[in-house]
Amino acid sequence: MPATNPNQALFARIRAAASRMEEDLFAWVGMDTHTANKAGVDALSALLCERLETLGFRVAELVNGVHGRTLVARLGAGPEANDETNEAPRDMATAPMLLLGHLDTVHPASAGFCGLQRVEGTTHAKGPGAADMKGGLVVLIHALEALHAEGLLHERPLRVVLNAEEEVGSPASGELIRAEAGDCGLCLCFEAGRTAEGGSTFVIQRKGMLRLSVRARGRSAHAGVDPSLGASAVRELAAKVGLIEDLADPESGTTVLVGTFHGGTAANTVPEEATLDIDVRFDDDDVRQQVEDDLQGILRKPVVRDAAGRPRVATSIRERVTRPAMLPTEKSKALAEAVVRMGAEQGHALVPEARGGSSDAALAADLGCPSLCGLGAVGGAFHTREEWVDLASLPQRTALLARLILDLGR
Ligand SMILES: [Zn+2]
Repeated sequence: MPATNPNQALFARIRAAASRMEEDLFAWVGMDTHTANKAGVDALSALLCERLETLGFRVAELVNGVHGRTLVARLGAGPEANDETNEAPRDMATAPMLLLGHLDTVHPASAGFCGLQRVEGTTHAKGPGAADMKGGLVVLIHALEALHAEGLLHERPLRVVLNAEEEVGSPASGELIRAEAGDCGLCLCFEAGRTAEGGSTFVIQRKGMLRLSVRARGRSAHAGVDPSLGASAVRELAAKVGLIEDLADPESGTTVLVGTFHGGTAANTVPEEATLDIDVRFDDDDVRQQVEDDLQGILRKPVVRDAAGRPRVATSIRERVTRPAMLPTEKSKALAEAVVRMGAEQGHALVPEARGGSSDAALAADLGCPSLCGLGAVGGAFHTREEWVDLASLPQRTALLARLILDLGR
């Protein structure tokens, strides 16, 4: 006879909520929360704020006037800070668990990829942000709601951060996430899992990311009348694209891409301005430092000069965003083993993986908070018009999370 499961009612409740999870997912994917659409992100933020407050969370909002509202929700208090060190013990069993998600997507509504559509003959559905990470938000909210309904939500202190600008590197909320992670015992992040043979994955290791926005400013002039009066910003930056991308080192897993390039105003005008965005991915932070130093060297070396050799185009870095690499630690490996075991107990094969994309879990990990990611819904084709989510994974991952909140690290 199988052992009686003490959480039988909890898991029955989660199974019974599957259709409400799908309803929420259809509604939330139907909301345009592209990072640049502040009103859309605010609408989802307001909706989730209400859901969290209903569960007893105290919710604060981070408002910066540019991005949508980031939510910081807290339930219960962690251990008291030590009088001498003024630091709370970072104990996995008693310190708060940090749950990270993002409200924004990479898909602007103008691209025409809108709303969630079922894929005939499968349990999949396609839509903007379906997996990244509206599906993860459904898993997060429904796990909390099921625990609340069973009177189990107060078993451990929780912090939830749902930020508004993750897809552009969390420039406004990154420091806040670090501050919240400072005294948390462990961190789970709800980016999507992926399918694996016989099961699905979650993430124990991620590459770091560095993004630089570069602007060059020269001087405009008429192309036919006296072009020598002008100084082309396009020429200045274009000459550097190859040098920048050559900093990539496939052997060490370092990638360098100039992902956008804009410049000039008209065919008959020497371009006064040009901009480009550089994306660097790396396995460890020493590599990042080296690549960044080399990049600065390339940008500082002028190409367009006057007869006396003086530079005529000024190049500057307008924005710099970075997330550290997330490397496995003894503690995060132990957590991953526990996740695999708890998944198996629920009948699901879970496989920890290393992934190239970065996430906010890396910010928590960087502060020494043991962190795992990829615990949201299962899906694929992230950031493309084919992005899909497996609807069947919603109750599975919700049940997993409910179990993790009760037992992980204990
Ligand atoms: Zn994401």
